[in-house]
Amino acid sequence: MRAIVILFFAVWLIIAVALMARRSGQESRGRREWRDWRCPDCAQPFGKDARLLEWRRKRDTRAYSALVNGPLVKCARCQGEFWFTWTGKLLPAESMKRSHEIAGLDRF
Ligand SMILES: [Zn+2]
Repeated sequence: MRAIVILFFAVWLIIAVALMARRSGQESRGRREWRDWRCPDCAQPFGKDARLLEWRRKRDTRAYSALVNGPLVKCARCQGEFWFTWTGKLLPAESMKRSHEIAGLDRF
């Protein structure tokens, strides 16, 4: 009986570590590649003049969401702000603003 508990715990631990590694891998890749993502308005890559901010989930929000933090890119051409995941998927700004906040200025 004890062996089963230990086995379940080990499996849970492996899955948790794998998910964390995957998330941080996606984030570091996003940090390298976000300038190549295309602006939804200009349809051109953001390029070197764009700015990277970060959003994070508000502490008091109750809504369950897998979205904990991610990039918020400011386009230098159209001045638009676009909410993305670290994998480069565009998120709907209006619903994101309700339960997420901007975490800080870019460090790059
Ligand atoms: Zn733009």
